[in-house]
Amino acid sequence: MPYVSEVLAQVAARNPGEPEFLQAVKEVLESLEPVIVRHPKYQKYNILERISEPERVLMFRVPWMDDKGAIQVNRGFRIEFNSSIGPYKGGLRFHPTVNLGILKFLAFEQVFKNSLTSLAMGGGKGGSDFDPKGKSDNEVMRFCQSFMTELFRHIGPATDVPAGDIGVGGREIGFLFGQYKRLRNEFTGVLTGKGLNWGGSLIRPEATGYGATYFAQEMLATRNDSLEGKTCLVSGSGNVAQYTIEKVNELGGRVVTLSDSNGTIYDPDGIDAEKLAFIMELKNVRRERIREYAARYKKAQYKDGVRPWDIPAQCAFPSATQNEITAEDASTLVKNGCFVVSEGANMPSEPEAVQFFIDKKILYGPGKAANAGGVAVSGLEMAQNSQFMSWSREAVDNHLRDIMQRIHSNACATAAEYGHAGNYVIGANIAGFVKVADAMIDQGLV
Ligand code: NDP
Repeated sequence: MPYVSEVLAQVAARNPGEPEFLQAVKEVLESLEPVIVRHPKYQKYNILERISEPERVLMFRVPWMDDKGAIQVNRGFRIEFNSSIGPYKGGLRFHPTVNLGILKFLAFEQVFKNSLTSLAMGGGKGGSDFDPKGKSDNEVMRFCQSFMTELFRHIGPATDVPAGDIGVGGREIGFLFGQYKRLRNEFTGVLTGKGLNWGGSLIRPEATGYGATYFAQEMLATRNDSLEGKTCLVSGSGNVAQYTIEKVNELGGRVVTLSDSNGTIYDPDGIDAEKLAFIMELKNVRRERIREYAARYKKAQYKDGVRPWDIPAQCAFPSATQNEITAEDASTLVKNGCFVVSEGANMPSEPEAVQFFIDKKILYGPGKAANAGGVAVSGLEMAQNSQFMSWSREAVDNHLRDIMQRIHSNACATAAEYGHAGNYVIGANIAGFVKVADAMIDQGLV
């Protein structure tokens, strides 16, 4: 469609050197063609040009002092992408690979994801190229304090509400919140993922992994199937991976892999609750590498420098990072019997891998639908904060399950409405887009 290609050409010209951002925009815009054809108002109001340009981009210096007394400098970012349906909302990523293009891709995806949750949240993302690996708690604290000393003037509970992502968990959110509170002299729900005794929500740490598993269960139910007895591959070994294992186990599946940026462990016996407790201690407290798992459990193998995708299984839950499934990995997965992919990570499959899954008609749940449980419970944390209330574990988990079911049925119904039944990419993108685009039209040229 000429309108979509013209906008994509403009976006490419305006954002050189940002391949991940261009990848995400291309995937979304191309899938929106059926809705643009049916509703010419989106072209009339230049919605595609406007929705692919962030409302605001903040970039700042973050100086801090390490334990040896040496001065370090990192770069901080916050991308406030779209606020038409609510305050900017999205995580902070601390990882040495972070750059402007990666955060813009994540913020862009977040706009549609947050819309899908049906909660009132706009899209944003931020972070830094700071690497928390190998840093002491005091170094992480000093970095977080310096980062917040700039960020605090741009965020607020009704403006922009950051959360965690890669490298930002409970410890970092604590340090960031403490500094915000000190600078503003106010105790508000300005961050989500907070500790339970200072405004956090039960089930927030679990939400992304649980949600991706609920989404897989919903996709399987369309074929009268379930996770019971299924062998599953999980990549990553952080927050999302850990709680995916917990929920897959509860629903009767068996997870046989985990990974980190150094390599993969394969445990043919499955990772049960006791082994998961070991992983949580290893990763969240000792902060060591996943290879230690194979040293502790002798039947497991450690494969250095590889990802989990060549191991036969029926389901895959990529839960580490973007572009971790290549076209070749996708072909290997399907050849080995995999017919369910539920993305815990953001954009973990390369475009050719996505196309392969769609062509093979496997149950493929793209990240912006499958991993929306995390931000959905962040939205519930904001609701609890504004009421000065804490809901029970059961109440939050029930909300999460309902939201994941609704995202699934909305994506399914929208895909069918536009003649692409079973294509969750088209369903999720169109369903997420329409609500934001209509709000942009309602609010005029701002
Ligand atoms: P964590 O930091 O808790 O864990 C990240 C895991 O992924 C670690 O095992 C890490 O290994 C691995 N990893 C990170 N970068 C790379 C890389 N470049 N190559 C290989 N492995 C890598 O992060 P989360 O679990 O929170 O996030 C995982 C994914 O889920 C991300 O894509 C994130 O955007 C997405 N997500 C997270 C949500 C949340 O609520 N936390 C919500 C929605 C999506 P290592 O330790 O070696 O770096």
